[in-house]
Amino acid sequence: MTLFGTNGVRGIVNSEMTADMALNLGKSLGTYMHRHGLGSRVAVGRDTRISGDMLKSAAIAGLLSTGLEVVDVDILPTPALQYYVRDKTDAGVMITASHNPREYNGLKIVAGDGTEFSRQGEAEVEQIYYAGEFHAAQWNETGSFSSDQTILRTYMDGIISKVDAGTISTAGLTVVVDPGCGAGCGVTPILLRELGCRVITLNAQPDGTFPGRAPEPTREELGDLMNTVKAAGADLGVAHDGDADRVAFVDEKGEFLDEEDLLAIMAGHVLEGKKGSVVTPVSSSLKVRDVTESMGCELLWTAIGSIDVARKMIETGAVFGGEGNGGLIFPEFQYCRDGAMTAARMLEILASGRKLSELKQGIPEYYNTKKKIHVKDPKQVVEMLLTLDLHEGIGSAGDVGSVGDVGDVKVDRTDGLKLWYPDGWILIRPSGTEPLVRVYAESSTAGRTAELAGYGTDLVEEAARKVRQEEE
Ligand code: MG
Repeated sequence: MTLFGTNGVRGIVNSEMTADMALNLGKSLGTYMHRHGLGSRVAVGRDTRISGDMLKSAAIAGLLSTGLEVVDVDILPTPALQYYVRDKTDAGVMITASHNPREYNGLKIVAGDGTEFSRQGEAEVEQIYYAGEFHAAQWNETGSFSSDQTILRTYMDGIISKVDAGTISTAGLTVVVDPGCGAGCGVTPILLRELGCRVITLNAQPDGTFPGRAPEPTREELGDLMNTVKAAGADLGVAHDGDADRVAFVDEKGEFLDEEDLLAIMAGHVLEGKKGSVVTPVSSSLKVRDVTESMGCELLWTAIGSIDVARKMIETGAVFGGEGNGGLIFPEFQYCRDGAMTAARMLEILASGRKLSELKQGIPEYYNTKKKIHVKDPKQVVEMLLTLDLHEGIGSAGDVGSVGDVGDVKVDRTDGLKLWYPDGWILIRPSGTEPLVRVYAESSTAGRTAELAGYGTDLVEEAARKVRQEEE
């Protein structure tokens, strides 16, 4: 059984994600820190979800029972907690289900350097959790508890110090901000006003019922923001997910900005200021690669997950990184996805007089598709896929056997199986949580993308057939 998914532990409150789990996760993390001598101070925060108080209190009790000192930082964006942990504590716990629907909540661990906890660390905490072998402090050594309210101010000052605040504040920009009643309420509207913008807010009261829209800032959820930007004649619309590590933008015409376009636009902006490499997961669009290479820089691909992107950035000294879902990382500030920082960097771009709709037109066009194929054991199917003679299914004239490159098709195993064609790619990955395999494809025309997705689907079905045959 796995507890930690791609982004911490998550589930529906009081059925899949309970107070007992938060308590034992707190004990497990405390035991892990005790075992490895990782220090004694842990910051615990939460987003605006209704069950936040319950899960936070339980996690705190668990941590205290192991003798750790807890600082309660209450409601704040995940990147604000990460900023605080980096400078002030030895670890952090965030109670959040990020962009998941209202009824969900979860728990995420932050390492002492402010980055997301490593997969290895998660695996050990998970092992402690299931073994139930918790470190229990002596009666006179249980932990102490305090709270700190200074954190949002410190975080906002940190952002302001890392952007061109002078240029932004003289530009007289009007911005509509929709934090979606999530953790961004306490930061982004205030930050943008301090940067000299005229700020209009929507859904800016913290409310765990999320009355205005769902926590995920998709195009479908942001109708009110798009309309308000247009009606107000604003320069930009900004929306966050529930814990404000991600951002979505609306241009001055009221149109939603595709997150892959955002990634490419921001890569261009960062590289204009400073040359270096850019890091992104293998699921990202070729848009960011094209922009990066057009600036004479290198794009580095990683496995899917913001922790993989952040670690690769640290390892290579990259100047920028991010995912095609609005989670962008600016290393001069910190090595984690940061929604408010991304909004501030976007203001820098607009302050130079450029319109977001025009910037979007400068990004090369690609067509993407994603398919789900239901299979019994997705990991096994993808393993089987790697033993297949690929040239049968992938529309290539190549005659090379399994797993090596096939003709002019390059085989890439960074995450699942990625096939690079001269004019596009297919990515095949097992889902970690559901019985399905995902097939992604991209090329510069809709027809070719559909064809590539078709090859990918055929390969998965062939592999699933072989797995079934072997079982019989
Ligand atoms: Mg999030």
